[in-house]
Amino acid sequence: MALVLFVAAGGAYAGSVDLKGDFVQGGLVRGQTAPDARILLGSRKIRVSPQGIFIVGFTRDAPASETLTAKFADGTETRQVLKIRKRTYDIQRINGLPPKMVTPPKAVLKRIKRENGLIRGARMVDRPEIYFDSGWIWPAKGRISGVYGSQRVLNGKPKRPHFGVDIAAPVGVKVIAPADGVVVLAELNLYYTGGTIILDHGHGLSSAFLHMSSLSVKKGRKVRQGDLLGAIGKTGRATGAHLDWRINWFDRRLDPALLAPKRADLTN
Ligand SMILES: [Zn+2]
Repeated sequence: MALVLFVAAGGAYAGSVDLKGDFVQGGLVRGQTAPDARILLGSRKIRVSPQGIFIVGFTRDAPASETLTAKFADGTETRQVLKIRKRTYDIQRINGLPPKMVTPPKAVLKRIKRENGLIRGARMVDRPEIYFDSGWIWPAKGRISGVYGSQRVLNGKPKRPHFGVDIAAPVGVKVIAPADGVVVLAELNLYYTGGTIILDHGHGLSSAFLHMSSLSVKKGRKVRQGDLLGAIGKTGRATGAHLDWRINWFDRRLDPALLAPKRADLTN
């Protein structure tokens, strides 16, 4: 829960900042303040909606705290230290493995670079709508086969952590929108992630759905929670049929499982 230190820095207290969410690594917090307030997380300017709503997210390895500053129209300012709970991740150490060729062939490096640019661009969109307020459901039915933050250390070398939640299910199982949003990327054949959709939920919050076998929506389409996006697959560099669901707040990778309804086979 929120452990908040409250400091009025600019004299009279002029407005309030109400925060709700997961104050934990990989978590998302929703704020409510005066519509004309200006909000900063550290030195980062945060969009405030006309209703006074804003969001901030914490990375997998977020520090113990971050500072949120609110500047109100009357010139007063409040500052809060957000305490961010540390998590322990599933780390697998595997030694004595023969070194594996993981570098892609030169011919595809250009392609990967271009595709990474597309994905980055889609994630940096800062849309004014508050689609994320629709709430969240799971985008597919299936068994959880991979969790956020897990990491393998091969022959002493830490690999890139896993940032999604993997839902294992047969090819063709429906993928639906977990929240309202707009399709900002719909590509059938990306090198790593195969059939890929990115949904923008507003204010820099986006969902990505990877390894899909078919896509039912095109870029630009507005979707409501529960609308069909496509089907589970094993396209791109996937070892088996599954949906890898990721959530970003701009460049920060969040844990989708913290937003979706709790389930018995997942603990956070
Ligand atoms: Zn995955």
